[in-house]
Amino acid sequence: MASLLIHNAAQIATATGRYARGTDMHHVRLYARTSIYIQDGIIRAIGSPLELEQSFPPASQVIDATDCAVIPGLIDSHTHLVFAGSREKEFALRLSGATYQEIASQGGGILSTVSATRKASKDELKSIAARYLSLALAHGTTTMEVKTGYGLNEETELKLLDVIEELNAEQPITLVPTFLGAHAFPPDCTKSEYLDLLHRLLPRVATKAKFIDAFVEENYFNLEQTEVLCRKAKQFGLLPRLHVNQFSSSGGVALGLRLGAVSLDHLEKLSNEEIHLLAQSETVATLLPCVSLFLGYGYPPARTLIDSGAIVAIASNFNPGSAMNLNMQLVMFVACAQMSLSPNEALTAATLNAAYSLGLSDTLGSIEIGKHADLVILDTPTFEQAIYFFGINHSKTVIKNGVVVWTC
Ligand SMILES: [Zn+2]
Repeated sequence: MASLLIHNAAQIATATGRYARGTDMHHVRLYARTSIYIQDGIIRAIGSPLELEQSFPPASQVIDATDCAVIPGLIDSHTHLVFAGSREKEFALRLSGATYQEIASQGGGILSTVSATRKASKDELKSIAARYLSLALAHGTTTMEVKTGYGLNEETELKLLDVIEELNAEQPITLVPTFLGAHAFPPDCTKSEYLDLLHRLLPRVATKAKFIDAFVEENYFNLEQTEVLCRKAKQFGLLPRLHVNQFSSSGGVALGLRLGAVSLDHLEKLSNEEIHLLAQSETVATLLPCVSLFLGYGYPPARTLIDSGAIVAIASNFNPGSAMNLNMQLVMFVACAQMSLSPNEALTAATLNAAYSLGLSDTLGSIEIGKHADLVILDTPTFEQAIYFFGINHSKTVIKNGVVVWTC
């Protein structure tokens, strides 16, 4: 039986339970000069170095964590990981004042990524995504939700699901697939033809994906199209998690709650009524701080959501158009510095609540006896220092299921 002892950590910081709501997000459990004993990938004990030495046989591997903080593996619960191409030219155009419409007329925008992704082979897409995954792992991400949505036709959307499935088996980060065929309408068929295709794909998609997503916004998917698609998807076991209220407050939150969405994501534009509805619900409010940073627009009302009692998660929204970042340490920093989360709340949002939104918090998202040993050993003595000393990768060692999968 493989065993691993993380010896004498300066600090262990973790949320506890299945999720934390509202101001409970601040209640992070802290241990000083503590060890963790792991057996067969599961956390068996958390206690003083002496106590664990006396209670367990010598571990097959020991990592000295003196001067290091240990946190749960980071959970990035909203990404668009699999795509080809890059849009730095569009970034520069936008900085020089070009509008979204002007960029689109010069061949930019989401459809430029769709065109590059359709042209790429499965192997090309896999090798591009594998590189991004290795970067995310190095920054402490051990679980990641991955959306399709840059195919927008039958062949490529299914290819993206295959890429996610194969990568899940081939590298350490747990990947959770979401079908986002309803990302945009493609230019090569009518809207009704495309909606028919999405409905037809659901039985096959349901064998590969866990969730269904839609971009609910003017000029994208309206409330009715989203509702009909999600109700059908639920019959095949696909649970909704939706992009809503990024640019406008137009009923996406109420629809998502009616559909029993596990998570509603973005939420930059929220009415007081919508904040109240979210705060009363079991649906996770997933906020994407680096999108506001990247696009230079307003942040979601994170403080009000938390103070009202919502279950808040934070994620990278890694994608080529609005957040080319997969460093969850930076996401936590921006959540603190720009959205006024406390470091404790940011840690809870990036671990336990993110796991809960993926239906995984019974086994992942916190450092507790019986949970999987997905851990990040930081090069700082407190996790707060790792957030505050921003823009630097503070991962020293990343552990997945009790196995060291990355070390600096
Ligand atoms: Zn997104």
